[in-house]
Amino acid sequence: MTNHSALQTLHDIFGYSTFRGEQKTIVEHVTSGGDALVLMPTGGGKSLCYQLPALLREGVGIVVSPLIALMQDQVDALKQLGVRAAFLNSSQDAEESREITAQLMRGHLQIVYVAPERLLMTGFLALLEEVEEGAGIALFAIDEAHCVSQWGHDFRPEYRKLTVLYERFPNVPRIALTATADAPTRAEIVERLKLEEARQFVSSFDRPNIRYRVTQKANARQQLESFLEREHANDAGIIYCLSRRKVEETADWLKSRGWDALPYHAGLDASVRNQNQRRFLREEGVIMVATVAFGMGIDKPNVRFVAHLDLPKSMEGYYQETGRAGRDGLPANAWMTYGLGDVVSMRKMLDSGDAPEERKQVERQKLDALLGFCESTSCRHQTLLRYFGEEHPGQCDQCDNCLEPVDTWDATQAAQMALSCAYRTGQRFGVVHLIDVLLGKVTPKITQFNHQQLSTFGIGKALSQQQWSSVYRQLVAGGYLESDIEAYGGLKLTESARPVLRSESEVWLRRDIEVAKQKVSKAGRSGNAKEIYTAVSEDPLWYLLKAKRTELAREQGVPPYLIFHDSTLLEILNRHPTTLAEMSLISGVGQAKLDRYGNEFLEVLEDATNGGS
Ligand code: ADP
Repeated sequence: MTNHSALQTLHDIFGYSTFRGEQKTIVEHVTSGGDALVLMPTGGGKSLCYQLPALLREGVGIVVSPLIALMQDQVDALKQLGVRAAFLNSSQDAEESREITAQLMRGHLQIVYVAPERLLMTGFLALLEEVEEGAGIALFAIDEAHCVSQWGHDFRPEYRKLTVLYERFPNVPRIALTATADAPTRAEIVERLKLEEARQFVSSFDRPNIRYRVTQKANARQQLESFLEREHANDAGIIYCLSRRKVEETADWLKSRGWDALPYHAGLDASVRNQNQRRFLREEGVIMVATVAFGMGIDKPNVRFVAHLDLPKSMEGYYQETGRAGRDGLPANAWMTYGLGDVVSMRKMLDSGDAPEERKQVERQKLDALLGFCESTSCRHQTLLRYFGEEHPGQCDQCDNCLEPVDTWDATQAAQMALSCAYRTGQRFGVVHLIDVLLGKVTPKITQFNHQQLSTFGIGKALSQQQWSSVYRQLVAGGYLESDIEAYGGLKLTESARPVLRSESEVWLRRDIEVAKQKVSKAGRSGNAKEIYTAVSEDPLWYLLKAKRTELAREQGVPPYLIFHDSTLLEILNRHPTTLAEMSLISGVGQAKLDRYGNEFLEVLEDATNGGS
């Protein structure tokens, strides 16, 4: 295989002219027979990393995927590109699956998606051995590889048996992929899937096209609606709420205000849920109001915003939920409104649950980390990535904190008190105790550890308990302190704390929630994620192109984005091709799509030009 053929196939089949990030190296590595572990954020372009080698190597590529709904989508998308693809899972009847198996045996298929349960059936493995001896197996791709992790929320026991692929097909390259970044999960994947020899490709988890904004809650509905009106009048998006009741109420309210909003939560009838999901995927501009039950396996590329009316449970949750916006790389918004009331009710919920105390402790810390993020005054991209152990230079110009001045106060002295209190108590106590020390409270714990003797005892009376909580959360979010989950959340100083303690650097913190409460944020009026779209959404041609796309999608019963992504449509609008040759230069227009749709879209452009002149 040469580079040329990979690039050529990328262009001819997928219609792209360049690789993204590490795609090129990954494709080359796997095509030449190497094993790989790929960690890439949502929207990073993982599918191509196995689809392209599957096409370039001899034989069929077998893709293990746990999400039935997604398989259908991926296979439909590949078929649109002219690739011979199919899937095998429990949603098919015996006849259908016999037919696909026969095609597989005949060597007719290029890519086959399989549910893990199916793959592991003895009969199926034997059949694959025959395929290997015949037409050959190009590779095994193990998608959503974090499903092997017992600690993650997507644990799938069958994933742990996938070592069988290594044992029975030692010569077939394996590529495991996931968007779950943390180091423990990565280690578990390597161990459980026997990928010790695999080359690891770890991408940045930054999502530069997502603009993060967090605003204080004043009148949440009004804030939400003005956000929607200002920035997303015709866009598809997801609004997350904590409870089923709030989902229903919010969806009803939005509907009464003329928005195309639908509810989604686990308490709804399965048929209603499916229907709502279908509308969200297949139609343009539908807003899904949902609990976290919605989202897994939804890979609609043009979700333009994710709004949170309630706090997510953790930074992981926030990253994952907001990450569903802007998979196509175009500007997207992550918008959240939160208030102190939410914090109190989330804490209550946590405390009253029946999880063991240890678990609650972990969850409280996760919530605190998220609050620290909300209150932080520094770049949100930076703070978010820091939580996942990645460096970011800050000043992203893509978050509220970088775009607008934040109401801050010089908290250097308070930070020094807070830090030295953690230091003097041995860096093993949690926030509650540290604040008790600062406020000079005599609690049984203070007496037990003799902390009333410390120089920091009672030095912090100028601030309230709540203000100190905020100081501590922001110090954690700012990377001055880290909470040691294994030591029950004891706060430890990091390297960044030293210069603060030595008065060599200042700390500015967001003004306390109470103070900021009256000030409803005017965030987002300037330069929002719609910049590109504002011009576009007023252009009648944009609607004509979208209408053509919807028409073609309806005819085939597929979602519009399978015809062309927004990014492709946008390029068609901007470049205004007049010939098929010009059309073929547009990103996302491969040979098959050019043949099928090229003329249809050229006609739309031509009619508009003639009509407009
Ligand atoms: P992931 O599975 O990592 O979330 P996808 O494989 O769905 O990401 O890709 C995200 C989007 O990026 C898709 O719309 C895909 O078509 C597009 N894409 C992937 N690779 C490229 C590329 N090299 N050039 C242009 N677009 C790409």
